[in-house]
Amino acid sequence: MTGGVVFLGQFVASQKQGQKQTSGKIPSAKVSGSSEPIKGEQASTQKRRASKLQATAKTSPVKSRPSGTAKSPSAKAAATAYAVKPVATDSKGPSVSLPVADLRASLLDWYGRCGRTLPWRNHPDPYAIWISEIMLQQTQVKTVLPYFQRWMEHFPTVESLAMADQTAVLKQWEGLGYYARARNLHRTAQIIAEEYGGQFPQSFDEVLALPGIGRTTAGGILSSAFNQPTAIVDGNVKRVLARLTALDRPPAKAMDRLWDISEMVLDPENPRDFNQALMDLGATLCTAKNPACLICPWRSHCAAYNLGTQSELPMRESKAPLPHKIIGVAVIWNDQGKILIDRRPQKGLLGGLWEFPGGKLEEGETLEDCVAREVKEELAIEIEVGEKIMTLDHAYTHFKVTLNVFRCKHLAGEPQTIECDEVRWVELNELDQFPFPKANGQIIDALKAEAAAK
Ligand code: SF4
Repeated sequence: MTGGVVFLGQFVASQKQGQKQTSGKIPSAKVSGSSEPIKGEQASTQKRRASKLQATAKTSPVKSRPSGTAKSPSAKAAATAYAVKPVATDSKGPSVSLPVADLRASLLDWYGRCGRTLPWRNHPDPYAIWISEIMLQQTQVKTVLPYFQRWMEHFPTVESLAMADQTAVLKQWEGLGYYARARNLHRTAQIIAEEYGGQFPQSFDEVLALPGIGRTTAGGILSSAFNQPTAIVDGNVKRVLARLTALDRPPAKAMDRLWDISEMVLDPENPRDFNQALMDLGATLCTAKNPACLICPWRSHCAAYNLGTQSELPMRESKAPLPHKIIGVAVIWNDQGKILIDRRPQKGLLGGLWEFPGGKLEEGETLEDCVAREVKEELAIEIEVGEKIMTLDHAYTHFKVTLNVFRCKHLAGEPQTIECDEVRWVELNELDQFPFPKANGQIIDALKAEAAAK
């Protein structure tokens, strides 16, 4: 392998050429959703994959990957695309030239000296790697570490996860947020147990077709578990590559280009360590604030550093302020001193988690009226709304809430599951057995503190 500069335009052109040559092998069912069977594949996998590929067809070149191909064709192309040819521009922006051999060598050398020690790293078990990749989606390593340890103690194998009750799964995820990830892990474990005999699939297309796994997670799992040359573009990688190439627009508007760059720099000889190193670089040196450029292995090739713009990149999109909802919440006691909780519907935000009933304040309504109305609509019972226990602010990805929590007394009616999946009367000390959203957890802590003080 010789050192040299690879131009992005040249790399993309070689990719397209490679895709043209293999396009005749792509079964139309993969992208068209045709009902024609694909030899050797399970029908449900075809359906999931066709649906996911259709959803990403506009933004992701992954749709062109040949069936069952375990290796990224573009990464293979990168291994040989070292000849320097002048390319003025590519289709998506100004030309980028990168000394890929130097970038690979310097990053891997730094990783060998400074890479983080993580429990799932170099783990022989694809199951553990898959769990870590899902937990790390939009979540920092230090937050994930205790969850990962506990998860592996409770569900040490894909079979144990597949057979677990959903409440037990959500309980282990409680507090980690984005609960669809836990529901998808559970569902995927069942698919792997039923359709793959408990063995994690190794084909990119099959992995991509699993619930909760997108292109970067599939790339992370396959490179980490099987050393396959599959690129990644997670949040940290976006930032590093945007700075490395002084990307002239927000990453969200240049995803195709970032994927091309990630595939171009990926070391096909050592994709596992390269991807891990790239993530470590973003997490420890090329951080969002105050990047440590002076000790960065890519400093001499980094366009942002050389232009002095590393603190201004990646470019940000201006965002509208988050909507703010005022919520009334009822902690309802019955005559036996039990508290009423309900389980949210499976679909939608916080699906499958338990909560105290309540809902959004309507215009012109008092908080007390809101609580009584919501409880009646949700559960068909009458309550007396008493004093306010506490007020809590909480932020989700797309909106903020203020929870106004009231002490309530059950007056009449048997709770019905009108807008929830299940209802239960439970003792205060039983609440810990159920998975609750984070803000509800704070209410439980306050109730326990109050009980302890009596
Ligand atoms: S030199 Fe600075 S901005 Fe460039 S990749 Fe390294 S840490 Fe990031």
